[in-house]
Amino acid sequence: MPSFTSRLFIGIIGFIALIAFVGLIRSQMAWLGWTIPLAGLSWWVWNKQKPRKKASLSFDPVWQSILLQLVPFYEALDEKGREAYDKQVINFFSTIKITAVDFEMDDECRLLVASSAIIPFWDLPVWNYGELQEVIVYSNHFNENYQVGEDQHLLGMVGNGGHMNHVMLLSKPALYQGFENKTNKNHVGFHEFAHLLDKSDGDVDGIPELFLPKELVNPWAKLVHREIRKIRAGKSDINPYGATSDAEFFAVISEYYHKRPKLLQTKHPDLYSMLELIYHPNGQDKH
Ligand SMILES: [Zn+2]
Repeated sequence: MPSFTSRLFIGIIGFIALIAFVGLIRSQMAWLGWTIPLAGLSWWVWNKQKPRKKASLSFDPVWQSILLQLVPFYEALDEKGREAYDKQVINFFSTIKITAVDFEMDDECRLLVASSAIIPFWDLPVWNYGELQEVIVYSNHFNENYQVGEDQHLLGMVGNGGHMNHVMLLSKPALYQGFENKTNKNHVGFHEFAHLLDKSDGDVDGIPELFLPKELVNPWAKLVHREIRKIRAGKSDINPYGATSDAEFFAVISEYYHKRPKLLQTKHPDLYSMLELIYHPNGQDKH
């Protein structure tokens, strides 16, 4: 439905056309009767087609002090790196909605959500976070029926199919724990975004095919199954949740890789080098 101004504009153009046409129809200047309104109409159409500039969001200086305090990765960056990070924050905030369900959302929480995406994929600049549209944050852990409470078992979840397809759910305390605890191998933000990376080829199957050279798909699957057997036999330091499926293994090992890279390199050099290829395809080494 055209707006009132658009309709008014069309009306005026039409009126001018009519006057000009009637006045000039018999003269040699008849063409003017057509050109004036046509030019006006073209101008209007052109203006309608022009992509409207998005209201640009700017980086609030307060965000920098929050990041410096809570995100060691940010603190370790040089000035140029921080500028790039700030741009990614703006990009995240302007493309992905972050919603609090049962508490008041603040910048600190929003920055930790964005950081959960920015840090693991720092060297994958072409990746758009798997067409994610919304991150929904709960005040605590939750269950499949979206009941919230400390004793619920879900810390995070990525929707798959239907209306939840472009949605991620996170527990706020779990999100904070991922950043606050520097020594364990757990990070729910990295975990859920790893699922999205895995999902980018259409299947959440533990093999991020778009990010793994074809010839390495089989060797990767073999490594995963070997390690899952070790977890089940109680002979691995990897979170046992990783043994529940190949997809969970990929998410769990990604948490370990991003949080304790040196430890992973020492304890699991094969898995570490595969993850290096996935997350740092151009051979960059952030560790
Ligand atoms: Zn998972």
